[in-house]
Amino acid sequence: MLKRQITEFIRQLPAGRRAIVLVWKATRWWSVAWGVLLIAQGLLPAGQVLLLRSLVNQFVASERWTTIAPSAIGIAALWIVGLLISSALTWVRAVQAEYVQDEVHRLIHEHAIRLDLAFYDRPESYDLLWRAQVDAPSQPLALLESLGTLVQNGLGFLVLAGILWAYAAWLPLLMLLTAVPGLIWIARHILSEHHWHLEHTFDERRERYLDWMITDQRAATEFRLFDLGTYHRKAFEKLRGSLRGGKLRLARKGAVTELEAGLLAWTGSLVGLGWMVHQTLAGRARLGDLLLCFQAFQQCQAQLRALLEGAGKIYRSLLFIDNLDEFLRTMPAIFAGHASEAGLPIKESIRFDGVSFTYPGGTHCALDKFELEIPKEKVVAIVGYNGAGKSTLIKLLCRFYDPDEGRILVDGVDLKEIDHEALRRQIAVLFQNPVHYETTVRENIGFGEISALSDDKRLWQAASDSGALAPIERLPEGFDTVLSKMFGGTELSEGEWQRIALARAFFREASLIVLDEPTSAMDSWAEQDWLGRFRTLTAGRSALMITHRFTTAMHADIIHVMEKGRIIESGTHGQLVSKGGVYASSWAAQMRDISHARP
Ligand code: ADP
Repeated sequence: MLKRQITEFIRQLPAGRRAIVLVWKATRWWSVAWGVLLIAQGLLPAGQVLLLRSLVNQFVASERWTTIAPSAIGIAALWIVGLLISSALTWVRAVQAEYVQDEVHRLIHEHAIRLDLAFYDRPESYDLLWRAQVDAPSQPLALLESLGTLVQNGLGFLVLAGILWAYAAWLPLLMLLTAVPGLIWIARHILSEHHWHLEHTFDERRERYLDWMITDQRAATEFRLFDLGTYHRKAFEKLRGSLRGGKLRLARKGAVTELEAGLLAWTGSLVGLGWMVHQTLAGRARLGDLLLCFQAFQQCQAQLRALLEGAGKIYRSLLFIDNLDEFLRTMPAIFAGHASEAGLPIKESIRFDGVSFTYPGGTHCALDKFELEIPKEKVVAIVGYNGAGKSTLIKLLCRFYDPDEGRILVDGVDLKEIDHEALRRQIAVLFQNPVHYETTVRENIGFGEISALSDDKRLWQAASDSGALAPIERLPEGFDTVLSKMFGGTELSEGEWQRIALARAFFREASLIVLDEPTSAMDSWAEQDWLGRFRTLTAGRSALMITHRFTTAMHADIIHVMEKGRIIESGTHGQLVSKGGVYASSWAAQMRDISHARP
């Protein structure tokens, strides 16, 4: 067990070094000030006991005020200095905490943005992210603080041990020896506490998820309609109950371990003090010496206790910082490439050449030897049932994932050879579930090309092209209206949100426009209006449109029917209808539905 602890401790040391570098980078001179204050504070107890001894001895020798005055003033001065140092430390620590947290958040955010989508396909990734976000931000500073406490108390202990050494060499040794077992017990407890947290990350995440579901606006409608509140609250309470049980057991064990360690150390002090009383009674020490030893034992006790606590905290921080490190070590899998911009902007076509792909941890092929050509200046539609692989092909096109087999070629250049950022700048996508940014309309559209955010003319054009202008003009502050209620804004309907998302796609000057169910939330009037202008909007660009509405697909130059990750039929609307295959029968069914719906 002890060997395992030592190995674990050594394994964590590099994380500690990185954490200290991080704190230093974030706080610099604040850390220097903090170190100086800590050392000063560490030396104070020794100064106090020494002054106390001379005060008592001077007092015993001559009971005159003038003799003891310098020592008395010295004690008072040290007391005030102690207060000043303590307040200054509180302030410096608050400043350090803010800067270090910002630095850790910066690291986490920068890294999270770099990671590819495959990261979110693994449940372990959420554990990693959780531990990094929830536990780690405060730990680098906690580590530094504990190191400081360790140095400070170590220093204080050494000075006091030196004082005691003058009376008998075994006195400080006894103090130390009675403290070591406690240190081992505490470290052991911290390790088991840490393992408990690792094992329960999943449950803690689920607890947060239930908490979020019960309180979040997005689930509010269904929760009320299906009366799911109580069900989820009970599930939350059950989970909390089992987590609380574990945490309380650990807290109880921690308190007992601390008490045992304290008692052992206290026994050491008691033996030393007994010996000193004996020395005084035998006339080998003066009253001042007895008082000094009494004080020194007490201070030593406090220093050792703090040392134990400090060492325990360092160990805990190292374990947590290792979690942050583990997250920061997770590498995106798909960004290796020659990072060239060859093939951009798209001049002729994009071609899927025998592409097969299975999601990480997936059980079946989402794309199976898939073949597709998207020629320049053409509108290509893909239709197919749910789960056919339509959205997957968009994800591969944007290089959120790489194919397992086959290639995607842009004017003959493999996508893997092209700089992924340059590639994405050439693609504008309207996703099936676009993000609702809870900010102004201007930003909701301008996020399509952040560098052109202040280009009002282009914003207006994109809004007009997507049919979003009319709803925007109805808003109280037009383009400057904040959307969604969370920050006091105005809520839109799903169809209006979709038009805003479409405007975002059109705002980007991309050579390929990809639309995943562009008209799904539009009413049929809006659909007709929008489709009428669609051709003009895609002039000079390629367009890929994924839809289950045949009335939308029929406007495309070529339609591909997808099933189980493959294309099973292709042609224009007319060709496919006359072919009498899957498209023709689905078209007939949709038309029947529409005609039945008419009065
Ligand atoms: P479509 O857009 O045609 O409805 P998708 O491309 O979304 O279909 O999905 C194709 C297949 O891949 C489905 O069987 C789906 O279950 C699976 N799939 C989609 N996303 C993931 C994912 N992140 N992890 C694992 N499997 C996925």
